[in-house]
Amino acid sequence: MSEGPTLLCFGRDLRLADNEALRAAVGSGRPVVPVFILDAEAEGNWPPGGAARWWLHGSLAALQRDLETRGSRLVLRRGERLEQLRALCSETGARMVCWNRVFEPAAAARDAAVRAALECEGVAVSVGAGQLFFDPEEVRNQSGRPFQVFTPFWRHCRNRTMPTPVSAAGPRTLPAPAHWPRGEALEGWGLRPALRWAAEFPESGVPGETGAWRRLEDFFARAMDRYDGDRNQPALDGTSRLSAALHFGELTPRQVWAAVEAASRESGVMPRSRGAQVFLDEVGWREFAHHLLWHFPATPAEPLRAEYASFPWRRDEALQRAWREGRTGYPIVDAGMRQLWRTGWMHNRVRMVVASFFVKQLLQPWQDGAAWFWDTLVDADLANNTLGWQWSAGCGADAAPYFRIFNPVLQGEKFDPAGDYVRRWVPELAQLPAARIHRPWEAEPLELAAAGVRLGADYPYPLVEPKAGRERALQALAAWRQGRLGAQEGGA
Ligand SMILES: Cc1cc2nc3c(=O)[nH]c(=O)nc-3n(C[C@H](O)[C@H](O)[C@H](O)COP(=O)(O)OP(=O)(O)OC[C@H]3O[C@@H](n4cnc5c(N)ncnc54)[C@H](O)[C@@H]3O)c2cc1C
Repeated sequence: MSEGPTLLCFGRDLRLADNEALRAAVGSGRPVVPVFILDAEAEGNWPPGGAARWWLHGSLAALQRDLETRGSRLVLRRGERLEQLRALCSETGARMVCWNRVFEPAAAARDAAVRAALECEGVAVSVGAGQLFFDPEEVRNQSGRPFQVFTPFWRHCRNRTMPTPVSAAGPRTLPAPAHWPRGEALEGWGLRPALRWAAEFPESGVPGETGAWRRLEDFFARAMDRYDGDRNQPALDGTSRLSAALHFGELTPRQVWAAVEAASRESGVMPRSRGAQVFLDEVGWREFAHHLLWHFPATPAEPLRAEYASFPWRRDEALQRAWREGRTGYPIVDAGMRQLWRTGWMHNRVRMVVASFFVKQLLQPWQDGAAWFWDTLVDADLANNTLGWQWSAGCGADAAPYFRIFNPVLQGEKFDPAGDYVRRWVPELAQLPAARIHRPWEAEPLELAAAGVRLGADYPYPLVEPKAGRERALQALAAWRQGRLGAQEGGA
């Protein structure tokens, strides 16, 4: 048995409860040295974006506090993971390292290589469960292939026994080593943006395990039983806002599942309310997104449906800029883009609307939109973001066909009927009546004057004519299909 402490290497599991790696470290019977290694290189082309780094800072600060109240610390190191773990083993005499699995391709490959190298050097490695219900390798359809459609995928998962959390709470104390290895100061990492960009990010949630549980409990009390209807209305606080917590592992899907079951039992609604059921299905979409990323690791950059690689996008920086800045002239799109920039979060319905507008009405490549989301979402998640963008562009798994084009005016009128969401994020339109707020260009001059709006000055005209955008997208699709058919026939 080893003489030194056991290293507990945190990653995408910034919590103390339901943490298999932590349980293994404590179970080793040795003092425990918790560490977090910032290794941006290991994330491949996807190191955390600006807003996600802000959340990471908060989450690490919370974990530090939580560990300190248990008589422990969080040692922060920066650099290549294997090198840092080797250095920590030699500084502390540790002969065992524990961590939990990650399922993103680059990080998973790194962890496998680190594990092999450490084991070769005689260091024991214990790897615990990651942020999914099931190992995606074990989830396959009847032909042994990965699923590409959500409903059979989720049915398959639901027919298995859902794993339960390994512990309801974190340990009260963690055995500390006699000597702590050196660590860096979190402030020195500069994870928070230097600009005042993040002033309103706390609206998207309080990072850390305690904040995550508060949000979950608040969601149960406030919205869960009405989630099936309210979740589509961006003006309401009708969703859980747990996406960043699930991404950083402040909470596990297992815990969410168990807590929903317990809340349903407590409120006497068994087996579950419709709202609770639909909410768990959304957590199932997260599982599906990770399943796809695991089996199709090139999809953050390339369409799952390979034929879409030749789609004739018309990259245009001026259009993209107007979209990013919330100046497209479509109020629901602009409201969403401004909510994103200011709070680091955007409502799911509006994510679908702005993404569809970007790829269809504006004919911009989905990868560019995904990259902007990556940098500005506090919950930026490679699997969920890839699924969301490929779904919107019609080139992913279970995707809306390309010819189904969201009309941003009708989407606004359907899901924000009183215009409250637009009023909040596009205040220059706040005084317009509900009948005009999603189509200000149709307002009478007197209505515009009464609302204090000068179109083209205070608020832009639409970037593309409402019908023209749709027709242009359909023409691009038809021409592309024609070209592919021609090429196939020519090649035959
Ligand atoms: C274009 C686009 C990009 C997206 N990018 C991301 C992203 O980078 N990170 C991210 O976490 N989600 C992303 N989503 C999915 C979804 O919009 C967010 O998960 C959701 O809005 C987060 O808010 P919430 O926690 O209140 O969700 P809730 O409605 O309360 O749902 C609970 C949880 O289920 C999961 N979930 C919900 N909807 C989806 C979905 N459609 N796909 C996958 N998982 C889902 C999330 O983990 C979420 O926290 C994207 C969606 C689209 C259309």
